[in-house]
Amino acid sequence: MSPPDAGGRKLARAFLKQTLASEGSALMLEHATREEVLRRLASAGRVPHAAAAPPADGDASPAAAVTRSEIAEAPDLEALAALVASCTRCTLHESRKNPVFGEGAANARVVCVGEAPGKHEDETGRPFVGRAGGLLDRLLMSIGLPRTSVYICNVLKSRPPRNRDPLPDEVAACAPYLLRQLALIEPEVIIAFGAFAARTLLETKSALGRLRGTVHRYSGYPVVATYHPAALLRNPGWIRPTWEDLQIVRRMLDGVGDREARSG
Ligand code: URA
Repeated sequence: MSPPDAGGRKLARAFLKQTLASEGSALMLEHATREEVLRRLASAGRVPHAAAAPPADGDASPAAAVTRSEIAEAPDLEALAALVASCTRCTLHESRKNPVFGEGAANARVVCVGEAPGKHEDETGRPFVGRAGGLLDRLLMSIGLPRTSVYICNVLKSRPPRNRDPLPDEVAACAPYLLRQLALIEPEVIIAFGAFAARTLLETKSALGRLRGTVHRYSGYPVVATYHPAALLRNPGWIRPTWEDLQIVRRMLDGVGDREARSG
């Protein structure tokens, strides 16, 4: 028997329920994760234990978590958000209150990428809704972009406990979601807010100061890097340079060329 895929999850649960019910097991499967369903099927001898092995696509996420191919094949943002909602690719799903998938216009010309959800975002399931979010809205408005006209998301879709820095394996586990979001939206420009988002997208350890001011590329999309709104709340002196970075974005949207980074 081949292992159940995401679409077969319901069937697998029903099948497992039936299988184990006949053995007298009282199971509460309503909240079982795909991983649990597979593990129980394997221990009931109904699927090979190999089904619990990591997928062949080099994906290091836990066995039976949402796979890279499921993510890459999500037909639209809603389907992708549903995968994030049940995602166990890293351990952050254990501590998060809500996944924060992202929100905004599905045909946005601009995608804003931050680091990871904070406390307010974790509580509401929405990106950039705290004080930093209020400032982000004002920054966007300064270049004529109401929040609803752009798409806003983060590198990580779950809050790291106590807002600690995201770990490399968490970034690796979550990156396919961002890639798929971008492929579905096809923005004209990405704004990376903060050193973490900029360094992650541009795969560099360079200081944000060195990344600002030029247009880079991520997966074929132009990227403008600037300060994180939370950093601006602490350092109001950086608001002016941020505004200047956003002018690059405005000029790109207006069809006026900007200098491409030589190393980008
Ligand atoms: N900081 C981020 O990087 N993202 C959010 O969504 C909120 C705060």
